[in-house]
Amino acid sequence: MKDNNNTNKARKFSPETLMMSYGYKPSLSEGAIKCPIFQTSTFVFKNAEEGKAFFEVAYGIREQREGEELGLIYSRLNNPDLEILEDRLALWDEAEDCAIFESGMSAISTVMFEFLKPGDLLLHSAPLYGGTGHFIKEVLTKFGIESVEFMPQDTKETIIQKVKDTGKADRLGLVHIETPANPTNDLIDLTMCREIADAFSTPEKHVYLAVDNTYLGPLWQKPIEFGVDIVIYSATKYIGGHSDVIAGACVGSFDVIKRLKTLRTFLGNMAGPWTGWLLLRSLETLQIRMEKQTANAQKVAAYLNTHPKVEKVYYLGLLKEGDAQYETYRKQCLAPGAMIAFDIKGGEAEAFTFLNNLKIAHLAVSLGSTESLAEHPASMTHSSMSKTEKDILGIGDNMVRLSIGVENPDDLIWDIEQALNC
Ligand SMILES: *Cc1c(COP(=O)(O)O)cnc(C)c1O
Repeated sequence: MKDNNNTNKARKFSPETLMMSYGYKPSLSEGAIKCPIFQTSTFVFKNAEEGKAFFEVAYGIREQREGEELGLIYSRLNNPDLEILEDRLALWDEAEDCAIFESGMSAISTVMFEFLKPGDLLLHSAPLYGGTGHFIKEVLTKFGIESVEFMPQDTKETIIQKVKDTGKADRLGLVHIETPANPTNDLIDLTMCREIADAFSTPEKHVYLAVDNTYLGPLWQKPIEFGVDIVIYSATKYIGGHSDVIAGACVGSFDVIKRLKTLRTFLGNMAGPWTGWLLLRSLETLQIRMEKQTANAQKVAAYLNTHPKVEKVYYLGLLKEGDAQYETYRKQCLAPGAMIAFDIKGGEAEAFTFLNNLKIAHLAVSLGSTESLAEHPASMTHSSMSKTEKDILGIGDNMVRLSIGVENPDDLIWDIEQALNC
């Protein structure tokens, strides 16, 4: 079961060390070295008084008392596998708390429903993950929530003006951004977004700032340091890392996460114990996977950058001093990650020939897994965008996106070379 008191006073251990033990006490589970899967929907109370006390705190009837130990009630509220996972995941971002959801979309939609209400305005960056864009355009609008978007190259002044031009600046409730943007790797300055959210905050109303940190996090970008309120993950990607589970997460302050967990209880979009167990297992290798994937991606990007059939490579590790994006990279990113996009000379036909001839990298959407994946953003992940939008954002028919895995980098380069020569 979960252990609420395992902090080490002599030394602050790093997350990679704590992923094997934090929050779990073997003696509470028959000495099992690994946390069992608590495949149970409900939990037995010792007595009626205990049941009453757990409900009072869970439903906000009163605050938890100093030193009061709370037990579990029902797996839609929480479960040991999920609680331990939440405690461990929060460590990477040095966040106060974490909430797990059954998908990344579930985390995103819960944030938007919690921090926006009918009549409110949402400000977001572009391009966004397709599912997020669809939710904003097709679902939030049904609840009377409107949105305004900005581009990676927009200045703070331009963005503030865009918000004012909607005539609803006083109703701005949430700023949602994705950086680096998918698939172009365009960076958005987190400090600037905090300043924009603050410019529209009042003593009565805090404008919340959420960032979808799926692409670089939780290792290579730690948004909380830059004043971000809610950090969102599709845990399906790097956190899960094996293309075998769908899950999502939010990390942030106790207050923010408490609000999200309360809504989660009533939307019922909690992940199950099996998902929790799989992700606990994944977290043990998160750092070595992301380090290896990043090292591989640096080699692949360098190779692509010199190939005569490649027009342009979009990779954070190739940014050069003097580029405005480089400054943002230096400020807020710790490593370039393992997502690469490149423009192949030609158009869709040349991009498809390349994709159809890969022998190691699989032709599939999704990202962040141990195996390398390749896809065509214009006709796959970003196919719902209009041609104009794609042109503005630089998503051409000749663009290919790669998610680099943990394979041998020379094998990957061999694969790319032979596919480019087809
Ligand atoms: C995959 C993804 C999502 C959605 O996550 P699911 O787990 O598929 O629901 C959201 N944002 C980004 C950046 C993603 O890559």
